[in-house]
Amino acid sequence: MHTVHSVQALLFEDTEKTDASSDKLSELRALVLDTSAFIQGFDTNDNETKLYTTPLVLGEIRDEFAKIRVTNWEHTGKLVVQMPNDASLKYIFERARRMGEARTLSETDHSVLALTHQLAEEGKQTTLVSDDYSVQNMADELGLPYKGMNTRGIKRRFQWIHYCPGCRKQYDKPQQDNICPICGTELKRKPGKKTTRRAEE
Ligand SMILES: [Zn+2]
Repeated sequence: MHTVHSVQALLFEDTEKTDASSDKLSELRALVLDTSAFIQGFDTNDNETKLYTTPLVLGEIRDEFAKIRVTNWEHTGKLVVQMPNDASLKYIFERARRMGEARTLSETDHSVLALTHQLAEEGKQTTLVSDDYSVQNMADELGLPYKGMNTRGIKRRFQWIHYCPGCRKQYDKPQQDNICPICGTELKRKPGKKTTRRAEE
């Protein structure tokens, strides 16, 4: 019996240690939610993960159930609502401009991408949750992990073709400042072939 008690004591001790370390882990794991995630009814029972979003996203939520969920999460501290810092916003705006994405991304899109970038810079294990193709494409270009609500781990991604309306040259990669290097015309783009690839976990 004595041995059993000792083992139990050890087990409890171990459990406490595990809890303490998973508390530290939970501070590091983060999901950033964009408007589409809330519209699709994002929900979670995972207490190990902290949720983040921006005030601009909250301003776009019209669904009553989503609003109630958000209010509860804010009260319990599960959801943190914050704007990304200026440096991260600037970084995203600049990258989007060079990619020719600045106009397809809304201010809200920029804010969630910037917040994801900022949290990743702070060393958090961050994944952006979005069903918006433009946001997913931009996250992919920036090397930020992301996942969709509907795609169950597999998603289709457009390979954009950047083309010049002036000299008709096509580019499979974005060009500097989104300008044709041959004739200086602003490039346009169209979806090319679809590629199927695994989403980040
Ligand atoms: Zn050209």
